[in-house]
This record gives sequence, C-alpha cells and structure tokens, in this order.
Amino acid sequence: MTSHIMPTYGRLPITFERGEGAWLFDQNNNRYLDAVSGVAVCSLGHAHPAVHQAICKQSEKLLHTSNLYNIAVQEQLADKLIEKSGMDNVFFCNSGAEANEAAIKLARKYGHEQGIENPAIIVMEKSFHGRTLATLSATGNAKIQQGFAPLVEGFIRVPYNDVKAIEQAVEQHKNVVAVLVEPIQGEGGVNVPADDYLNQIRSLCDRHHLLMMLDEIQTGVGRTGRFLAFQHNGILPDVCTLAKALGNGVPIGACLARGKAAKVFTAGNHGSTFGGNPLACSAALAVLATLDAENLIEQAAQKGDAICSAFKEQLRGNTHVVDIRHKGMMIGIELDSPCAELVQAALQNNLLINVTSEKTIRLLPPLIINDQQIAQLVETLSTLIVKHTDTPHES
Ligand SMILES: *Cc1c(COP(=O)(O)O)cnc(C)c1O
Repeated sequence: MTSHIMPTYGRLPITFERGEGAWLFDQNNNRYLDAVSGVAVCSLGHAHPAVHQAICKQSEKLLHTSNLYNIAVQEQLADKLIEKSGMDNVFFCNSGAEANEAAIKLARKYGHEQGIENPAIIVMEKSFHGRTLATLSATGNAKIQQGFAPLVEGFIRVPYNDVKAIEQAVEQHKNVVAVLVEPIQGEGGVNVPADDYLNQIRSLCDRHHLLMMLDEIQTGVGRTGRFLAFQHNGILPDVCTLAKALGNGVPIGACLARGKAAKVFTAGNHGSTFGGNPLACSAALAVLATLDAENLIEQAAQKGDAICSAFKEQLRGNTHVVDIRHKGMMIGIELDSPCAELVQAALQNNLLINVTSEKTIRLLPPLIINDQQIAQLVETLSTLIVKHTDTPHES
C-alpha cells in the first residue's frame, strides 16, 4: 500500500493503538516500555486521567473562540505559568518552533526600538530550535538547513558551553540584541553545560543589555527536576520558550517574557489563530496541577539520579561507554561509535529509546515511570549496549 503522507520522517515499522502510563500497546496488543515519551511530550505518561477529564470537560463547553475575545482558561494558565516561572507575561502558540519564532520576533523588535537596524541573535553550535525558516536558521545543524537556502539572516553562531565565545561575538558585532540558548541541548546530544553556564550568560547579558532567551521546550515543565531548568541556577531569563510537555500531547507552545522584554509586543505585533485556545489551555492546566499533586518534579530529580546510577553500575568498565550524563529525567548515554541501530534492537525487545547526534542514546522517560519499569529499562538497555559494544562495527 502506498502512503499518501509526505516522506519527511524515517519512521519505525510499528503502529501504536493505545497507551497507559509508561506503556504503549501496538495493534496486536504487544506492550512496549516508552522511554521517549513522544520526545519529552507525554511526561505524565499516556492516557493520564487528569488530562483526559480536562479535555473532555472543556470540549463539552467550548473548544475555540479565537483571540478576538478574552479566554478565561488562557488567563488562568498564564497566571499559573507566571507564578511557577517568575516571568511577567506569556504569548501562547501551538508548537515549539512557533514559541521560538515569537522569541526571535520579540528580540528583533527590542533591537529596533533601540535604534539597531540590523539586530542579530547569538545562537549555539549543535543547537535545535525548530523547523520553520527562522528557527531552522537559528538551529546549529547543517543537515537541517540543507536545501533550504536562503536562510533567515541575523544569527551569529558560537560554540556551546563557551561564554568567552559569546563575549567575543558581542564585542565583534555591534548589532547583537539577544542570546538564544538551550539550558541542556537535547537534539544536539543531551549536552549538559558547566553548572554556572547560565549564570555567566545572565551576567554577560546584563553587562551588554542583551536579552537572555532560553529555549526550554525540551528541558521545561519538570523534565530536569525543576519546573524550568534555569531554576537550578537561581537566575531569571528575559525570555523563555515552552512547548512539548506543557500539554502532555495536546499541542501548545508558550513564549514567556519578563521586565523590558515583557513590554516589547503591543496589539497587532504578533498573533495566532489557535494559540492559547480553550482546549489546549485546559490540558495544560491539568498538566501543571498534576505535576504538583503527584509531586512529579521532585520525583524527576530522584528517578533521574537513580536511573543514571543504575546504568553506571551496569556499564562500569565498558570502555565503549564514553559518558553517562543527565539532569533529572533528561538522560544521555554516549558511546564511542554510531549506535542508531540500537533503536531497532530495543524495539525488538519491547523498549522505546532514541538516539541523537549519532552516538548518544537519549532517554526521556515519562516522569510517572515506576521502579519496576526503571529496572526493566536499565536491564534491557544495558544488555543491548553491552551486545552492541562487543560486536565489531565500522566507525
Ligand atoms: C522540539 C524542540 C523544538 C521544536 O518544537 P516543535 O514543537 O517541534 O516545533 C525547539 N527547541 C527545542 C529545544 C526542542 O527540543
């Protein structure tokens, strides 16, 4: 049978029919342990009753009215996000790329207001910010940009985890208005920077009057053991973008701003038909309430530590394991050779994992994963890694 879907994805040969917590079931009712969570989206697991109930109840009343009118659940969600983040206001959209588009537009307008005609944003090597034209231009991955020239201008790229490189770029280019960075690079290989990296960027941005813009689309909403990853550093950015886990599968994105950045957009500057609609906002409100009610963010920190210690124990002495790193439940196991085939091998063992940046196994389990499931994840994957690294392969 030919598919009529554009072939933009390399898909695994499996179709899931339903989910329950950390489990997914295929069409033959075979059970798989999900350690990817739809790429950091379903942090509460699949078919969480709180999200289910919230969207059912909302759909009985109202799905959409547009932003021509006030939307009460959107106001409530904004209040909650502000309370939890320490930011000042929010623009709602439908995806991560759109949240970053809002941030990029905000930074440019901020620059223009200061008389900078050609505002530039510093971005990082190996970064990922999305697939729209502006966000793929900001992304530090030649493969993602290949074939889509001319790219959007106004981005200056420097190495990740290198504050001096940012400083040099700022001194060299008089038109820099913002720094856009992921607190931990996800697609780029689960790259965890130095503990004080964000603090250093904060003080650099203060010294040079730049907007510090954090892409927390993957790290946010509890994933790293804090509601937002920057909360590990005791700082506040000027702009912060969210999406992925915010709706636990219902599409929603958000661009949060603070202080001078919160005053940049005025009526008519930006918009979205669906952004912040009642359905998506009611799902997100349920997600935030459930994270608190089930104490899941604190658990993300503890379970993440437990998972990594267990892998370190199981893989101790394996010289092909270069590094095991994590913050909360954002976990990377870097091998010394490409390991994309481990995804297939894991699938055959009823386990869903991801490999990114060729050599790094990325685990983003749902925050509700239990001890038994953690044990199964560590046992199954460690065995596969040992097998993989024992087998000679081309490098
Ligand atoms: C997934 C992701 C995006 C893009 O989000 P979409 O919803 O796919 O547009 C942007 N930045 C980061 C860090 C991401 O992980």
